[in-house]
Amino acid sequence: METKVTPFRFLELPQELRDIVYEHLIEDPSPSYPPTTTSPAKALSSLSWILPQRPAPRSSNWIMLASRQVYQEYMDVLCKKGRFSFTVDQNNHTKRNLWPIRAETLNSVRKCDLRLITTSKMLGAIDPRSMPQGWPLRDKICETLTGVEKAEDLNLHVRAIGDPLWNPLWVWFHASQAFKDTGKLCFNRIMFSLDTWSPGENHLARNDEGNWCWQCPSNHVVATDPEQCNVREFCSALYAECEECPSLRA
Ligand SMILES: [Zn+2]
Repeated sequence: METKVTPFRFLELPQELRDIVYEHLIEDPSPSYPPTTTSPAKALSSLSWILPQRPAPRSSNWIMLASRQVYQEYMDVLCKKGRFSFTVDQNNHTKRNLWPIRAETLNSVRKCDLRLITTSKMLGAIDPRSMPQGWPLRDKICETLTGVEKAEDLNLHVRAIGDPLWNPLWVWFHASQAFKDTGKLCFNRIMFSLDTWSPGENHLARNDEGNWCWQCPSNHVVATDPEQCNVREFCSALYAECEECPSLRA
């Protein structure tokens, strides 16, 4: 006996309903490059990292490959609602094209995290205490992210890779100073970590006037940030105790 398959006319649904369906397909955080898990998506195209990755793609997630129209609609919702995450690390920092993403996609991204997993060498110096003026990788990142200026929520996470020779503070210090003012590409927050992405120390954030200040992990302001600061001032603000949070040392 034949099974009767009744077609479901997805494209005949009103746009609002289709958008709700797309929203359900977006994962958090999504999408991230390089992809964190290997999936069959990888084999399909160099842009497949944009597709849902985790857990292994369910067949329903492949809706966006159904047609050009569906793909475009899905991408619109994804750029509006999803949080894009781009990583620069030892594996890709020398690549000419850091992330395979189209300019038009970058133009519509609203929320974006840049994750910088860095060694002192990536900053351009063996010893981070003696950084040269200018940092080509920073310029390349800014150039690659051209178009993301319209993002309302743009964060930088600086993860320092440990080295017995020097303190990660130096890496955090130089990286944050270089990214505090990147012209049109305007970061809202700069966070610091060692081996996880969860920030444990204070972080830099912009206040209502757009100036940098230091905030505790619960986002209370703990210190102002001078435009130019030395590593000692940086260090004291990074570890400044919050007066509003209950003290853990009591
Ligand atoms: Zn606090």
